[in-house]
Amino acid sequence: MLWEQALQVSKTRRTCPKESAAMRLEFQEYKVRKIVNVHKHVDGPWFWDKYSAHPYLGCRSGCEFCYERGGAYLRGRNPDTFDTLIQVKTNAVELLRKELSRLKPDVICCGDWQQPVEDRYQLSRQMLEIVRDLGFPLFIVERSPLLTRDLDLLVEINQRAWVGVVFSISNLNPALKQAFEPRSPGVKRRLQAMASLAGAGILVGTSLMPIIPVVGDDETHLEDVVRATKDHGGSFVLSGGLTMAGVQAERTLAAARRLDPALAEQWRDLYNWQADGKPNYGPPRAYNARLGLLVRELCACHNLRDRMPRYISSGPLVVNKRIAERLFLKTYDLDLEMARDYRIWAYRKAAWTVDEWSQSLADIYAARGEAGLRELPGIGRSIAREIAGWLDEEKIVKGGDSQ
Ligand code: SF4
Repeated sequence: MLWEQALQVSKTRRTCPKESAAMRLEFQEYKVRKIVNVHKHVDGPWFWDKYSAHPYLGCRSGCEFCYERGGAYLRGRNPDTFDTLIQVKTNAVELLRKELSRLKPDVICCGDWQQPVEDRYQLSRQMLEIVRDLGFPLFIVERSPLLTRDLDLLVEINQRAWVGVVFSISNLNPALKQAFEPRSPGVKRRLQAMASLAGAGILVGTSLMPIIPVVGDDETHLEDVVRATKDHGGSFVLSGGLTMAGVQAERTLAAARRLDPALAEQWRDLYNWQADGKPNYGPPRAYNARLGLLVRELCACHNLRDRMPRYISSGPLVVNKRIAERLFLKTYDLDLEMARDYRIWAYRKAAWTVDEWSQSLADIYAARGEAGLRELPGIGRSIAREIAGWLDEEKIVKGGDSQ
């Protein structure tokens, strides 16, 4: 049984009075068994969250490329009602308090500020109050500028622990927005929200995803977003290509065809998509690497990072977290270099081991040198040597574990 399966579904479906008859919007209240998703591993080298908790299912914006419309995210729901029926987890707040009270503080990705459901239920705001009260660091990825309504709480959480926010911006091109995300909040409003958060001392950046192939993946489109991020106080830009899965793939291709029939055919080539079959999940690896390197270069020109810095709390395992961060970052570098899969997996597994190891690597290295590091699962001779170099370089062993 899925953990989010409804325990009780409200028989009353509420209709939002602000919506026009042409685009009906309904809210369905229900209770869930569990709200916090505990990830098997931290999400490095991307968002670095260990937990996630979201109060709504479905999204009014209904972007054609939204990966949540397809696959496992809808948990068996009809994808056609993704943007007209918003399911509201009415017990999200009480469950969050209960479940977080039992968990070790680590970064939680939390909330959903889509309108009008958040205007009405304010579950995301109440969830932030709990995150603040329990001292958890917080990560948010959003398209909605409504997030600035809760700036007071974000500042408090940032003072007590840490906050990192990523605004999703696929491009600044009005024609592409109209084609693929016509009802999402305006990009200018997202950028203004970014500036407000940055002005309040919160780490902000952009998720330049999905990059629209062929018509939105050239240097000009990418640089526009990088420059806008810099101009609005952002510190980093994460980039990623468009993925294709199930209903989302069909809808995105249909949107491309409406924009330009020739574009749809080019996409078919890019995703190796035969008329009677399924597309590849993503474009070829070389295409993704080219985009990643280009964004890295553009970020360097504008003095931004192309990775989000990791939050690491103080404590005896700071060294492990730092070394794990470097190992995770190495997987991304190797991906951009088109390294062989086995090499990338070696670093990924080493990152997981180090991140989750309960004894300080600094102590192990001080006591037994490189041989001690090699005894950790999945750490071979060359990675052990690299870790030893990092430990020496940072003078972590001699300088202690403080950040
Ligand atoms: S705003 Fe985000 S969650 Fe909502 S439909 Fe668009 S991509 Fe999906």
